[in-house]
Amino acid sequence: MQMRKTIIAGNWKMNMNHVEAESLARGIVDSVAGVKDVEIVLCPTFTSLSAVRDVIRGTDVRLGAQTLHWEEKGAFTGEISANMLLTLGCEYVILGHSERRTYFGETDEIVAKKVRAALVSGLNPIVCVGETRDEREREITEKVIETQVTRALSGLTAHEFAGTVIAYEPVWAIGTGLTATTEQAQDVHAFIRVLLADIFDTETAEETRIQYGGSMKPENARELMDAPDIDGGLIGGASLDAESFVRIIKA
Ligand code: PEP
Repeated sequence: MQMRKTIIAGNWKMNMNHVEAESLARGIVDSVAGVKDVEIVLCPTFTSLSAVRDVIRGTDVRLGAQTLHWEEKGAFTGEISANMLLTLGCEYVILGHSERRTYFGETDEIVAKKVRAALVSGLNPIVCVGETRDEREREITEKVIETQVTRALSGLTAHEFAGTVIAYEPVWAIGTGLTATTEQAQDVHAFIRVLLADIFDTETAEETRIQYGGSMKPENARELMDAPDIDGGLIGGASLDAESFVRIIKA
């Protein structure tokens, strides 16, 4: 019996201005009114957060951001703090996405600081981990995942960690149209759950939701999410189209 509530999050990345984002959010909200067994999170750009918040107000749809800065405030031109996101209505924040790691130099140590800042302020982090194609071919996927997970969560107690979501996103599957097979994804998800049991305890591991991300589409969502350790999806490309995103949710 799986007790974990499925969580489907849309990572809109640097797409859509706030007018377009509002209209996409409205399209999604209108189609998911009866959905109760899936937690839905929309993660637009910073500039669209308040517009999307206004659309989802009074519904079960949740708001998330795509990154934050770990300091509370100060001379960090261009950055956004956890408290700023929280007071705007965010409940989630994506951290350590592979695009942040690749293009903005985010290391595991930086991700760890961001995870802590999110948790301290009351935001639920969605912590992204995943191996590159080269790492998979070299058969070091588990080693890479172990390093990313343990470093991102270093120093946290089970109590502090509560509410955190892990997203397994093989880098080779993000935005490429290539999807991990259900077996490949399930193997890594099960491995992450064992890691969480080692870091924290079995109960925490069993309660933690682990999403799959990487070219998830309406056509493959159901099979992936039927796997015992896959508790939802982090969706990029397909979340920019209300119909595709809703079909994934309904899968
Ligand atoms: C992502 O960027 O988190 C992602 C999963 O993207 P896509 O669905 O487009 O592969």
